[in-house]
Amino acid sequence: MQIDAHNFLLTEGTKMEVKWDQDVCSHAGVCVNSLPKVFKVEDGSFVIDTDAASEAEIRGTVSKCPSGALTIKD
Ligand code: SF4
Repeated sequence: MQIDAHNFLLTEGTKMEVKWDQDVCSHAGVCVNSLPKVFKVEDGSFVIDTDAASEAEIRGTVSKCPSGALTIKD
């Protein structure tokens, strides 16, 4: 996981890579509520653990993000 100068958080799981755009996120909490084992806040930082659920579960949650802040790199 890394946050670059443009406030993107990128996960490098073994299965897939999810990108989170901090500037676009509306902090609605849909992701952390629907799949808390993957999308979570630890020590004040947003964490995306792509190894904690199936790819289908993660894709389903990403599709529910109301702001479009979450994207999957295929
Ligand atoms: S679901 Fe999308 S808008 Fe809501 S907190 Fe997660 S990334 Fe942000």
